[in-house]
Order: sequence, then C-alpha cells, then structure tokens
Amino acid sequence: MRTSQFFISTLKEAPSDAEVISHKLMLRAGLIKRLAGGIYTWMPLGLKVLRKVEKVVREEMDRAGAIELLMPAVVPAELWQETGRWEKYGPELLRFKDRHQRDFVIGPTHEEVITDVVRKEIKSYRQLPVHFYQVQSKFRDEIRPRFGVMRGREFLMKDGYSFHTSFADLEREYKHMYDTYCRIFTRLGLQFRAVAADTGSIGGTGSHEFHVLADSGEDAIAFCPDSDYAANVELAEALAPAAARAAASQAMTKVATPGKTQCADVAAFLGASAEQTVKAVAVMRTEGGFALLLLRGDHELNEIKAEKIIGEFRFAKDDEIVAALGCKPGYIGPVGIKADIPVIADRTVAAMADFICGANEAEHHLTGVNFGRDLPEPGQVADIRNVVEGDPSPDGKGQLGLCRGIEVGHIFQLRTRYSEALNCKYLDENGKEQIMEMGCYGIGVSRIVGAAIEQGNDDKGIVFPAAIAPFEVAIVPMGYHKSEAVKAAADQLLADLKAAGIDVLLDDRNERPGSMFADMELIGIPHRIVVGERGLAEGKLEYKGRRDAEAQMVDAAGIVALLQ
Ligand code: ATP
Ligand code: MG
Ligand code: MG
Ligand code: MG
Repeated sequence: MRTSQFFISTLKEAPSDAEVISHKLMLRAGLIKRLAGGIYTWMPLGLKVLRKVEKVVREEMDRAGAIELLMPAVVPAELWQETGRWEKYGPELLRFKDRHQRDFVIGPTHEEVITDVVRKEIKSYRQLPVHFYQVQSKFRDEIRPRFGVMRGREFLMKDGYSFHTSFADLEREYKHMYDTYCRIFTRLGLQFRAVAADTGSIGGTGSHEFHVLADSGEDAIAFCPDSDYAANVELAEALAPAAARAAASQAMTKVATPGKTQCADVAAFLGASAEQTVKAVAVMRTEGGFALLLLRGDHELNEIKAEKIIGEFRFAKDDEIVAALGCKPGYIGPVGIKADIPVIADRTVAAMADFICGANEAEHHLTGVNFGRDLPEPGQVADIRNVVEGDPSPDGKGQLGLCRGIEVGHIFQLRTRYSEALNCKYLDENGKEQIMEMGCYGIGVSRIVGAAIEQGNDDKGIVFPAAIAPFEVAIVPMGYHKSEAVKAAADQLLADLKAAGIDVLLDDRNERPGSMFADMELIGIPHRIVVGERGLAEGKLEYKGRRDAEAQMVDAAGIVALLQ
C-alpha cells in the first residue's frame, strides 16, 4: 500500500475531551472519528486494525470448532419479553417502534435470538453439541460512554453461544473456550489475566472475565500472588470474610442512625483523625422505593447525621429516579453512594452503603453494575469495595493484591436460564424432551483496539503489537519524488515485502522526513525502513524498530529475511 492511495489523517493535538491515552492517540492517529457520544466511524487506518483483531478471533473460533453465522441487530421485543429481559434490562437497552407501532430493540447481546434459532432448527441429541458465533455491532445505551471505543454505545462484539445435552458437556466446552480465549489474547500480544466473575445481568452460574491489565482500566481485580486466585472485585467482595463484613456493618449502624453517631466512632473505624470531614450522599432503599440522603459529619458535635432526605421515589417510577439521580434504576438496586472525602476508605463507604441500604448482594450481582464505576459524576465517586489490598485470599493461600483491568472477554455457563424461558428442547436417546444446557462467550473486538493502545504507547504515539498493527512495515524514502534511485529502490522493496506476505506501507507523500517519521511512529507501525541515496550507494538501508532508541544500517539484500 502507498500513502498516496490510502487515507491518513493525523492530528498534532488530541481533542481536549479525551481522558485516557488510548482515546487521545486513536483520535490523533486518525483511527476513529466521533459522530455522537459513544458512536464512532472507523477510519480506513483504524478499520485495518479492527479487522486484524477480528481475523485472529475468527481464526481461533473456527479452529475451536465454533460455526459462524450473522444475526440481525434489530430484534422484535417479543423475544425479550419471553425471557423477561424486556423489563429487567433497564435503559441500556435501546428500544424503538416500527411504523406499525411494534416494539423492537437494537440487540445489546443475542441470547434470545440464538436460542430462537436453535429451538427451531435443532430437534435431536444427534445435532448437539453445537456452538454458533458471530462478529456483530451491538448497541448499549451506556450511561456514560467514554474512553472512545472502550466504552462505546455502538461497538463490535464477537458473541458465541453453545448448546449441550448435559452440564458436563457444557463444562467441557466452557473449559475449551477458556483455553481458546487465552490463545486469542496471547496471539493479540496483550498482557491479560483471566479472573473469576459473577454473572451480571445475563444470569446463570459459572463465569470468567478476561482483563487486559492497565492502570486506566475501569474494573478492579483481586488476585493472590501466591496462588492462581484471581477474581473481579464484585466476586471477591461477595466472598470477603463474613466477620469483616459484620464488623463493618456494626460500626456503620451508628453512622446511619440520624443524629446519633459519634464522629469518633467513624474516625476510629476509618483509622482517620476526627478532624477530617465526613460527607456523603447515599441512596437508601425504603419500603416503597428509594430515598436519597445527604450525610454529614459535624466535628464540633462529634456526630454524623443523615442531614436531609433529598428526595423519595417509588418503585413504579423508574424514570423519575433516572431523572433525579442521573443513573439507571439498576444502579440504585442496592446502593448508589458518592463520597467527596478521601478519608472515607473504600471499605467504609461500602460498609456504610450496605447498611443504609440493607444491600442484597444477590441483587447487586443481577444488575451487572460495578459500583464506583457506573455511578454518575466521574471524579466524585469513591471506589466502593469491601476488599482491600492485604485482605486474606479466599483460597487461604496468601494475601490479596489489587490491580486494574479492562474487560475484553467474558464467558458464562448460562445453564438453562434462556433455554427454559424460550422452551429450547431436544429429543434424547429415549425420545424424551429435554431442555438444552447453554454457554455464552463474548469478546469486545472494538474495545481490544483501545485496550491494546493502553498497554502499548510512548511519547511518540501508539506501539501496536505486530499482530494488529495497521501495517507491519513502513518504508520511508528520502526524496521519493527527487531521486530516481530512491524511487526505484523503494518501489522494489514494496514489491518484495508484499510478495513475502508482509503488510507494508510506502510513504510516498511529498512531506518533510520529520513529519513522515512522526506519522509512522504515531500510528504505531512496528518496523521502519528508510531508503536514502547514501545508504543505497553502499547497498544499505536504515532500519528502526518502533521501540528502538537508535536506527541501524542493515544490508539491503537481507532486509526481507530480517522482517519475516
Ligand atoms: P462492562 O463491564 O465493561 O460494561 P459487560 O460486562 O457489560 O462490560 P458483556 O455483557 O460481558 O459486557 O459483553 C461482552 C464483552 O463486550 C465485554 O467483555 C466487553 O469486552 C465488550 N463490551 C461490553 N460493553 C462494551 C462497550 N460499551 N463498548 C465496547 N465494548 C464493550
Ligand atoms: Mg456493561
Ligand atoms: Mg462487566
Ligand atoms: Mg461482562
């Protein structure tokens, strides 16, 4: 490929609203263009990267025996009503009516549709197991789309669904997919960790998430360096020692009793000095619905008060809650809380919240919400958790460490959650009807591009893993339009590298060398070859790896072999 025949459009500065490095660099490198919040055009250069991610995912899914199909993005509401998710899913589900006033959704995930296909197509145990997958655009009306394609509203997902005659066979495929996902993320050149997870709003039991490790990650992971224990924090919390939870609740009981709590109690519990202010807003579950409370610590009186009830909401009026709090009812499930004082440690906020709301963990897991991440008002939200660094690992083998991750894949044993609701049955060896066991397996294809950049970048721009770089090699000629020798050598090199199966870009723009170098570095091409008259005279080319500090002269004759 030649730059003159392609489309490259880079920026010196990133737009100011981009918060994380990958988002900034994707905009600067011209990989994506924003159309609306969480909705992006993949520009030609970005699309090349996206397609390479897709290719790896497809190759490994095919190799694992899954069969590709493509389901519609637009799905009639009836299917979602059949499984009960029409009511449960909340405002993240984009709903609309057609010209006949029939309800539809744009699929955020496709359990309903695939189960409908399978219940109609598959009749006998002889046709099972089967695993179908697709690579498709999904839509989720995220409360806070951000970080570019990492939390988009429209995004590309690989979603696979397997159907089985027994739980044991589902477990076999689940393990197989676990291994397949490890292969995929390894091939993509990502540093990742598989962690045990709760099952969120999809339901079912048995689940793992795959996280790309990055400080900017929105999720917290608890792991034990002395064993292979790793879980997302929601799950680790659920397993946090009961004693610690009880103690926390007891301490915070006082906090939540209006006008009665001693600041000193709180300070002691927090391990903080009494001078530190305590102020928080909590969402409280009441008998009829929810109430929003303002809590305030008064040091002179040494008291924490529920200062006032800001508002009360009935269960029936979800929209009111959303309007008042700016968050969806699911978030309010057990608790929504924000604290503007650093002294309220994670553990304490969670404990306080738990008490106030009488939080029910089972429900909190149903909402699929990560507290401290999905709550409104970024920056003000404390990271709410009950596990902290140094807590004993649930497997008893050491202490927990915490790190941050970007969820790029998620596998679930759904069991019969959907097959039962949708009556997806087969006839067994004895001609008897049985409900199918089901698994589902997602990969955030577009999110991976952002996640890879979070892990691979420097002050010059993106450092893509070779497997997903838009081009593997950049040829930068010095004076392509001035020197016949340079032009001939660069054209020949382009042809030779292409013939060797290397994805190569020849920069034949009439630009200053400095700006061509800067562009090729910014867009993250792993290898650069400079073709210049002086080197050519000695049979040499200049080579530089994207992470190398210095370029080196190499024999022109050996260049193809060097890059293969
Ligand atoms: P998250 O916790 O980040 O909201 P999720 O748990 O809701 O993700 P799943 O339902 O497990 O997502 O979907 C499968 C995969 O799709 C996720 O692991 C993630 O990689 C990707 N994904 C989910 N939501 C988004 C989004 N808004 N933008 C980009 N990718 C997404
Ligand atoms: Mg989500
Ligand atoms: Mg998640
Ligand atoms: Mg998930």
